[in-house]
Amino acid sequence: MKAFAQTADSVAWTSKKTEKIRLLAEYLGARPVAEAAMAALFFSGRAFPAWEETTLQVGGALLWRLAAESAKVSDEELSEAYRRYGDLGNAVAEVFGARQKQPAAPEIFLPELAESFRKIAATRGPAAKSQILRPLLARATGNEAKYIIKIMLGDLRIGSKESLVEEAIAKAFEVSAKDVQRANMMLGDIGETLCLAAAHKLEEARLRLFHPIGFMLASPVESAEEAFEAYGAEVRFSVEDKYDGIRAQAHIGGKDGHRVVRIFSRTRDDVTESFPELVQPLASLEGELVLDGEIIAWEQLSDDAGRAMPFAELQKRLGRKQVAEALLTSVPVAYLVFDILYCDGELMIDQPLERRYEILASRLALTRNYEPLVTIDPQGKLAFEPSVTGKNHKTEIIRAPFVQAASPEELEELFLMARERGNEGLMLKDLQSCYTPGRRGRAWLKLKRELATLDVVVTAAEYGHGKRAGVLSDYTFAVRDDQEGNKLLNIGKAYSGLTDVELAELTRWFLEHTIVDEGFRRQVEPRIVLEIAFNNMMKSDRHASGFALRFPRILRIRPDKLPEEIDTLATVREIFARQHGQKSPVP
Ligand code: AMP
Repeated sequence: MKAFAQTADSVAWTSKKTEKIRLLAEYLGARPVAEAAMAALFFSGRAFPAWEETTLQVGGALLWRLAAESAKVSDEELSEAYRRYGDLGNAVAEVFGARQKQPAAPEIFLPELAESFRKIAATRGPAAKSQILRPLLARATGNEAKYIIKIMLGDLRIGSKESLVEEAIAKAFEVSAKDVQRANMMLGDIGETLCLAAAHKLEEARLRLFHPIGFMLASPVESAEEAFEAYGAEVRFSVEDKYDGIRAQAHIGGKDGHRVVRIFSRTRDDVTESFPELVQPLASLEGELVLDGEIIAWEQLSDDAGRAMPFAELQKRLGRKQVAEALLTSVPVAYLVFDILYCDGELMIDQPLERRYEILASRLALTRNYEPLVTIDPQGKLAFEPSVTGKNHKTEIIRAPFVQAASPEELEELFLMARERGNEGLMLKDLQSCYTPGRRGRAWLKLKRELATLDVVVTAAEYGHGKRAGVLSDYTFAVRDDQEGNKLLNIGKAYSGLTDVELAELTRWFLEHTIVDEGFRRQVEPRIVLEIAFNNMMKSDRHASGFALRFPRILRIRPDKLPEEIDTLATVREIFARQHGQKSPVP
């Protein structure tokens, strides 16, 4: 652990990416493989592999208490240090001071840390969890405690993202970075990836059914013209509606009679139990499949037509382990499938989208109940009509229709039609593009409702006034600096836009996840992601990001997004440049 912490410190010190990679590679290459595998996981800011659902379930408040206790400092002293760094790990290192290892205490090695994390995850309640963590912190030096806490909070904040660790593995074991990235994508386990790289067996990595892989993401465009410009004249692209629901990856396998279906959300959580009505229709598809699509609340209009209900309806179904019968009837859902990633032992992601569409259509048609549903209407209208909802009047699984647009005007018309159908806007997809899991590229573009929105994370919450006294209703929020060690930089503050129920739930959450209690205001763990709309963006010294938003409004909470996925300072600069008619982003 000592060497791990020292390496992490060195990585934090340098801002050069190549130097960070070199330092990580040097460390990983020099350790026994099993230990290096654990380190790779921890350097990625994870206590457990990405594909696993295991979480520590330890809030910042508990870590805070234990750290203060272990360092024998008061809450105020820790608060003061926290304010200096804005990071609990760094604050803890400071209050631990020059504390050295007790000569009699055994050193902490990574396998012990890994095992302790497993035990913490397996126990329930803060008291039991403390019993495991307390003795560990008691033996840790300041530097070790710093990184134990950072790993537990899910971010080392030393500018070592998982992609950097992938590059370091490639360098350490002299294999191609692309192969490492690909193996990690399929396994969802950076430690296991390292073991394969060390053995020069990366080609053995296979996608495993029921282990979710990353989702392909889209880049925003603000107008139909911009979309055409972005693709250029050569690229043919498809146009789908952008459904306002939650992204879902369905894994289907097993033998007849024992078919297994698992549905994973964008955070790779298993959400199958929240959508029981999708299980049987998915199980009735033939073969082994991994599908990508969006689950939306669905209103059946007639036997063979329906439409999306607003996201607020779907929200009633989220976060529930058991869905009451009444809710199944009042908010039925449908799974709009738009991609296929795996099919009977074959990975599909390297096939061009055009081909994946064909395979998807044929796979859905394989089952008696489903017709081939692709409809490209020669008039260029997106048909969300009888043909796409299936013949058996069962609308749970729907193949998302797509069309093509020949001009910005046609695309604009499609956008308005999508909005009329109750959808958010359009998704545009390069027909020749491969599926790139976990990456946001320009192959998929999204054209949305608001001119500009930002996904941000809440860093502090304040009590409101009047009706909202006693409710933490005013939120300060941040974007991520993708260059400077992934630091969070505040960009604004907003209070309107959420329902009373949402505010009550968030208040409860913030109270439990407060890092610093300043009385009227609480600095909170940066976990809650919001989507913010605003009218304009200005340069300003008010916030650390150097920008401020005019009339920010909270559009909604994004439980489906991880804090790592929020927008970056680079995106903010781009929006600013666009809004102010500049060609290139401001420096
Ligand atoms: P955003 O969440 O605004 O970044 O937009 C990307 C999200 O749109 C994806 O993660 C999906 O959940 C959702 N989405 C809705 N319809 C589609 C579609 N047809 N293709 C891809 N993603 C879609």
